[in-house]
Amino acid sequence: MIEDKVYAARSILVVGAHAFDAEVIAGPLAAAAAKNGAQVTFLHLSMGEQGHPCLIPEHYSAQKEDEAAKAAARLGVGMRNMKLRDAFLPNDNATALQVCDVIREMRPEVVITHWHGSWHKDHRAAAQLTQTGIFFSALPTLKRAHPAHTPQLLLFGENWEDDEGFRPEHLVDVSAGFDAWQKAVMEYELARGLSSFPYVDYYSALYRLRGCLRGTRHAQAFAAASHSWNAGSGLFAPPADRSHDT
Ligand SMILES: [Zn+2]
Repeated sequence: MIEDKVYAARSILVVGAHAFDAEVIAGPLAAAAAKNGAQVTFLHLSMGEQGHPCLIPEHYSAQKEDEAAKAAARLGVGMRNMKLRDAFLPNDNATALQVCDVIREMRPEVVITHWHGSWHKDHRAAAQLTQTGIFFSALPTLKRAHPAHTPQLLLFGENWEDDEGFRPEHLVDVSAGFDAWQKAVMEYELARGLSSFPYVDYYSALYRLRGCLRGTRHAQAFAAASHSWNAGSGLFAPPADRSHDT
């Protein structure tokens, strides 16, 4: 079961396009896993600094960095800020190599990122950068600072902006992380009324709704990678035991 795999992981990496995205696609899960002793890392590709109606991007970036650090502390997770330019996330090999380097350093068994069906170009880029980053990370012939590493599981989290074709294939009990998540997101001005979108209402209700279907107080939904991805991303792992084939 996916839930067992998630909570058995010693290291989990969550890649979000903008600070606050990792918090919504996997925040309650991250808090619950961290409580269990897992090392969880949020990789914010950008700070989302273009999103303030009054502050210039430089000032809002500093504010979001501070908010993200406070949110991470409340969730019990680590944080990396790649500080790429909001609205202009480069979807290229050089950036995917930076993601690869974080994957090789943190050696996560589970990686979570955006679903690719998003109206937001940065979210689509983040989904692709993560998949390419995993591909690079697994390539043993690619020499970087850290040795090759193949995560065992790639999941795509639920985000209101990434709803095109998203299917909630797996529901993970995150009840143990919900309270920490509520406190964490309130560190962001974005959650306290900066946006016209009622983030906290939406996600609190969503996690409860998913919980109703999971049979727990709260749950988060995830889409799985394709079968061919799951087979292909393990190409560089040791061969499976074929002694029972014939
Ligand atoms: Zn975003």
